[in-house]
Amino acid sequence: MTHPVLSALGLGESESGTFLGGGEWATGDGAGTLSPTNPTTGDVLARVSATTPEQYETIVARAQEAFKVWRRTPAPRRGEAIRLCAEALRTHKDALGSLVALEMGKSKPEGDGEVQEMIDIGEFAVGLSRQLYGLTMHSERPGHRMYEQWHPLGIVGIISAFNFPVAVWAWNSFVAAVCGDISIWKPSGKTPLSAVASMRICNEALREGGFPDLFFLFNDTDNALAERMVDDRRVAMISFTGSTKVGRQVGERVARRMGRSLLELGGNNAMIVEASADLKLAIPAIVFGAVGTAGQRCTTTRRVFIHESIHDDVLEKLVSAYGQVEKKIGDPTDPANLMGPLNSADAVQAYLDAIEKAKASGGTVATGGKALTDRKGNFVLPTIITGLANDAEVVQTETFAPILYVMKYSDLNEAIAMQNDVPQGLSSSIFTTDLRSAEQFLSAWGSDCGIANVNIGTSGAEIGGAFGGEKETGGGRESGSDAWRAYMRRQTNTINYSNNLPLAQGIKFDL
Ligand code: NAD
Repeated sequence: MTHPVLSALGLGESESGTFLGGGEWATGDGAGTLSPTNPTTGDVLARVSATTPEQYETIVARAQEAFKVWRRTPAPRRGEAIRLCAEALRTHKDALGSLVALEMGKSKPEGDGEVQEMIDIGEFAVGLSRQLYGLTMHSERPGHRMYEQWHPLGIVGIISAFNFPVAVWAWNSFVAAVCGDISIWKPSGKTPLSAVASMRICNEALREGGFPDLFFLFNDTDNALAERMVDDRRVAMISFTGSTKVGRQVGERVARRMGRSLLELGGNNAMIVEASADLKLAIPAIVFGAVGTAGQRCTTTRRVFIHESIHDDVLEKLVSAYGQVEKKIGDPTDPANLMGPLNSADAVQAYLDAIEKAKASGGTVATGGKALTDRKGNFVLPTIITGLANDAEVVQTETFAPILYVMKYSDLNEAIAMQNDVPQGLSSSIFTTDLRSAEQFLSAWGSDCGIANVNIGTSGAEIGGAFGGEKETGGGRESGSDAWRAYMRRQTNTINYSNNLPLAQGIKFDL
């Protein structure tokens, strides 16, 4: 029987994972099928047919044709198309939020929140469609005008991770669309149903509004087609969200063909808790940051540095709060639960391996440390580990699970140095009521991350800012601020309205 959450979105037990454009979804499963499972029960939710190489070719050819039309469409009109998508998502927010929760395993409020992010970035993109500003410069030559303008890039290939199965696509594709680009999406093989549902909602809204196809979708079982897109010169940019391991390969391959890539990779995010911190804020921020989405956010809090004078007190409070969370682990589609399962059995194994490694390196499990074997699904206990040094291998590695390493410090410089001393550079935060500490943390000699917060946790970014991180997080920026520039090409124009042809730098070339 089809799961009611799927039925609510008109999805059945067998779905096509290929949107070819022109309202057409591919038929047949010549390229095999994906079997997304419910991480709460281990049951297969539906079968999604993968895309053949021929269908991929059709997608790229149609995307190229669509681009020829879309790049001539005025940007504010492009914004109108995205306004319709955001409206349609608002209508389907509850149903799509439930599907995201079901398929990925995050809580219902987090699933709804992810759809809200899609709506928010859609509305942001509508405003942006009237603000794709270039600069005007003063020419050094008389009677000359110089300016720069931003043109659409072409086809944007989006490869996304399982943990934000729909929002990351919207961050990319909505902004790309108002920039005049056409996007092709390869979602995670673990969450294809959320992708199919999102595409249906948005593509129907576009068709009803009389707009051409802006979004295409393909799925594959072994990443062979994903690699083909990464190497495809017709795809001007690859926006990749996922692990550092795969992102490094993707970045290298795209660079080899001199394409453009936008990399949003793993994090190893830390929080510093000063002696002056307001613990009423800090404790819930740590717990939400470490346990929310069962530790499967790129911005999850993985390390906490606590000032030695309050370390034992904070640890005790955290252990007690974790005890509360333990009572509310369960089916993520039930709004009463605070923590759902890990997405896969592999993730449970990675969690157990990391805990063993931590113990072998001298760490102590302060709370948690076990998989819940008394039930079906990929459930684990949220875990706190103490007694490890920041340079322990397991602490330096992103394990995509709710494991928090708690460490002590005595001096803020030392805490900032430890926080920065990891390969990743995504999100960071400090809890303090001391202005000097806060400003030091935000200064050029403070946090080296793409995101640095004061009295707010590491996870849960708003769409208005540019999102991304440094070092092995990949350096890309998506979403708000001027992240749109990544989806456009810059052109510098000089216009001579004089009767002479003066050369730059005063060079004489007398004929
Ligand atoms: P993953 O790297 O395993 O997979 C990501 C995507 O890459 C999937 O769609 C996958 O099918 C595809 N892929 C796998 N091999 C490929 C290849 N050879 N060529 C092209 N594509 C390939 O990551 P995941 O487990 O889905 O997601 C978790 C990771 O993503 C974590 O490291 C997390 O920190 C990171 N992440 C980062 C951000 C960010 O914005 N920085 C956001 C979400 C997730």
